[in-house]
Amino acid sequence: MAKVRTRFAPSPTGFMHLGGLRTALYAYLYAKHNGGDFVLRIEDTDKERFVEGAMEVIYSSLKGTGLNYDEGPDVGGNYGPYIQSDRKPIYLEYAKKLIELGGAYYCFCSKERLESLTDENGNRKYDKHCLKLSKEEVEKRINSGESYVIRQNIPLEGKSSYEDLIYGTIEVDYSDLEDNILIKSDGMPTYNFANVIDDHLMGITHVIRGTEYLSSTPKYNLMYDAFGWERPVYIHLPTIMKDATRKLSKRYGDANFDDFIGKGYVPEAILNYVALLGWCPKNGAEKMTLSEMIELFDLTGISKSPSIFDEVKCKWLNGEYLKAMTDEEFIEIAKPFMTGLENFNTQKIAKLIKSRIEILSDIENITLFLKEHLSFDNAIYENKKQKTDASLAKVLLPKIYNKVEEIKDFNNDTLFSELSLVAESEGVKARQLFYVMRIALTGLEVTPGGATEVADILGKEETLKRLQTAISNL
Ligand code: GLU
Repeated sequence: MAKVRTRFAPSPTGFMHLGGLRTALYAYLYAKHNGGDFVLRIEDTDKERFVEGAMEVIYSSLKGTGLNYDEGPDVGGNYGPYIQSDRKPIYLEYAKKLIELGGAYYCFCSKERLESLTDENGNRKYDKHCLKLSKEEVEKRINSGESYVIRQNIPLEGKSSYEDLIYGTIEVDYSDLEDNILIKSDGMPTYNFANVIDDHLMGITHVIRGTEYLSSTPKYNLMYDAFGWERPVYIHLPTIMKDATRKLSKRYGDANFDDFIGKGYVPEAILNYVALLGWCPKNGAEKMTLSEMIELFDLTGISKSPSIFDEVKCKWLNGEYLKAMTDEEFIEIAKPFMTGLENFNTQKIAKLIKSRIEILSDIENITLFLKEHLSFDNAIYENKKQKTDASLAKVLLPKIYNKVEEIKDFNNDTLFSELSLVAESEGVKARQLFYVMRIALTGLEVTPGGATEVADILGKEETLKRLQTAISNL
């Protein structure tokens, strides 16, 4: 069997759609699971949609998630060029061949004539008007400099069918298809043509793409057949939805990979979550490394129905990735989210928060109590379970203050053991003392870490200052 070759063929829109990322991932996984190659091709034939820097976004998103392509514009390969606009002469050559084979024809119709074909419902279908032109007339008009396009010649009758590995047999009546443009008047191909030529010339064995191409694939098969080329295997993927009715879209700020990075998701977690949108591995695994995914990838686990992007679950998974990091790894990626915390020991903060946040942008809120001593109502000293209240705080806080002031070796362990002794001599449980101390230091009923951990991060001076403020507020 020929070596499996898959490709990811994004248009350079300037952002990486999560649906696109999933297509890239599945194409990558399918190739790698089968010992094949994964190719990146840039589909930039729509010049009006050109966006500066858009290709770099594609390269960096793929590389940043570990989807390293074997061939592509910036890495080279034997089947290049990998950018469609650099392949322009190839398409014209093949379009001419297709004309000779009867699969396409020149069309000179004016915009006005095309508009006149619009019916009362606003639908328009080209009427094959130029198919009738003789070879001589076509040549004459081209030589005289008349502008033209090349259209596909779709049979008027009959049915086409093919097997999609996810959706099964797909049948389409030719009468439902149109003689679409293959080469535009500027000489550039349309997607409808370029995808066929490129997939064939690049030796793509398995075409993996969104389900929106499911019903236009018969048009592409007509061309493969006309050229006498082997059709690729088709694997169309279900849509990713925001909810029951809306697709995930950049417009809602919920589809752009970079937006998720900006919110503090890590690339591996996004990729892992996206893998689960439409695919369930046989062993039911959820958290998977890329190599585990390669191992497990299996088309039978891909669903036909659209999947809904569940941000709660994506966040949870991201949190699992953060937890699994070493403190050093965590600090490295968390740095951009730790503004205002420069005066504290980041190592200690990392220990405190790493397993308590889901996305890095949670850091801002969860560390607010370190940046400022939040004001609070003394009523929060009251806790039924701990058996604490403001009057107990009034007794304990001055003792805590005195002890803290005495301690030379100011750190979590010393604070813990010395203050436990204070609790003992006051006849209260250590956890009662630490409860009121933590409230006094943070102004919050719930915080990451206990009183002594928080004090350790705040430092002796700030700890004393906050205790003093809390005492005078009682
Ligand atoms: N350029 C097309 C897109 O971005 C690619 C479709 C395909 O993979 O064939 O939707």
